[in-house]
Amino acid sequence: MFEREREQLTERLVRRERLSEATARALRTVPRHEFVPQAVREDAYRDRPLPIGEGQTISAPHMVAIMTELLELSPGHRVLEIGTGCGYHAAVTAAVVGAENVFSVEYYDELAEAARKTLDRTGYGDVSVRVGDGKEGWPERAPFDRAYLTCAASDFPDAVVEQIRDGGLVLGPLGNGQQTLVRGRKNGELEREQHGRVRFVPLR
Ligand code: SAH
Repeated sequence: MFEREREQLTERLVRRERLSEATARALRTVPRHEFVPQAVREDAYRDRPLPIGEGQTISAPHMVAIMTELLELSPGHRVLEIGTGCGYHAAVTAAVVGAENVFSVEYYDELAEAARKTLDRTGYGDVSVRVGDGKEGWPERAPFDRAYLTCAASDFPDAVVEQIRDGGLVLGPLGNGQQTLVRGRKNGELEREQHGRVRFVPLR
């Protein structure tokens, strides 16, 4: 179901965003319609954010694609995600690095529970999901090669930066009100680059 729609969306994004083969393959593979609520399933392959409950939203596919590119993911990278939501973005990451290497923290119990179920059902059951405050990262599973936030914070949480390996990357929307997608490369210090205006739900 929805295979043609998914392929067409992927083709459009590949052309528009000049996506790598790895990112394209992930978008082509992960069934976004399985992750969104039944009521908005028909819209799963439109390039727009969708409501997923608890006042939260799943990011638009192009944003997931752009973040996947900016993280320069390779198979085997250990990745920390802050904000599991419905689990779609975690599944896309898992499609690139391997599900057993993805560790995701979600604030809302109900969302984490639903995400786990969907990840299981779609073949990404090895993704680890924990309920908690993403500001603390996941110390027991550190160090990570990559970390990203799917909710906006005033700055990268200290604990998250600490849990990244030297040479690793952290990515996320920063700012209260106006948000900018920022990528930090950890070389002792965090070297920051800005990647445009974005709009995400706030980190709690
Ligand atoms: N990546 C998600 C998008 C989720 S939207 C997806 O593919 O669906 C952002 C998510 O961050 C929401 O689910 C929200 O509940 C969660 N969130 C907000 N503050 C958080 C915090 N402090 N710790 C962990 N998760 C948080």
